[in-house]
Amino acid sequence: MKSDFTKVGELLQDARRVLFITGAGVSAESQIPTFRGATAAFADGMTEDGLPFEEVLSAETFQRNPELSWKYFFLLELSIRGKLPNSAHRAMAALQTPRRKVYVATQNIDELHQRAGSQNIFELHGNLRRIICTKCDYHAHRETYETLAKLPRCPQCQAILRPDIVLYGENLPQPVLDAFRNEQNKGFDLVFSVGTTSLFLYVIEPVAAAARRGIPVVEINPETTPISNFADFRFTEPAGETLRRILEAAAIN
Ligand code: NAD
Ligand code: ZN
Repeated sequence: MKSDFTKVGELLQDARRVLFITGAGVSAESQIPTFRGATAAFADGMTEDGLPFEEVLSAETFQRNPELSWKYFFLLELSIRGKLPNSAHRAMAALQTPRRKVYVATQNIDELHQRAGSQNIFELHGNLRRIICTKCDYHAHRETYETLAKLPRCPQCQAILRPDIVLYGENLPQPVLDAFRNEQNKGFDLVFSVGTTSLFLYVIEPVAAAARRGIPVVEINPETTPISNFADFRFTEPAGETLRRILEAAAIN
């Protein structure tokens, strides 16, 4: 009997358009803690200020108390500083060939998919290394926040700066959603959900839609999630090792 690694490997060999939906679990093996589930950064979802992380990282808190939000932006930056892509990021990048297009819709803000060489990335929650002004069009890429003031101000207009990430209570970036929707309309041959708790409708729906159309769905996550029911294949080992073995089965490296 063929193993699931072999079966998914064969699907990959034939696939022309592949979608990966990724979450914090993909970067767990790069030693970046997730928020929820295994490898969670916040015990019981609580920060040291006794507030849930959804609250300190919300648009409302940033409005009312930007110093408090910035404290956690700095901690987030510290958690990704110097971290490198792992074999899960690299596997997704290695799958790109002239005849196989690979799309990555990620909830991660750590830029590791780019660093691994993936080309078609939808950053659904933005990018922590991009700093933008809350008032004007100033924006900058910051490898680290080391030189930033505690409450950094815009060099052009003195307004407060912020990372270009989606805070709780904010909408996802419309151009990113439009580009992602455009590729969904063209369809995929194979859809993976990797290392995400799949709590949000916008990461559940593309997988559910694929399942409805009969497109094979693969989930890689040690824990069950809302999409586990309609996954055709489920792998519960860490993402890096699982993807490495799938590529090996497909003779791709
Ligand atoms: P999450 O933190 O809620 O959940 C992580 C998921 O990964 C869990 O389901 C867990 O079971 C799984 N997981 C843990 N280790 C794994 C491994 N080695 N292989 C495969 N799966 C593994 O993540 P989320 O659902 O993405 O949502 C939290 C939000 O917080 C995200 O939207 C993201 O913006 C942000 N966040 C980003 C980063 C990052 O950029 N690296 C890190 C933490 C949180
Ligand atoms: Zn400005």
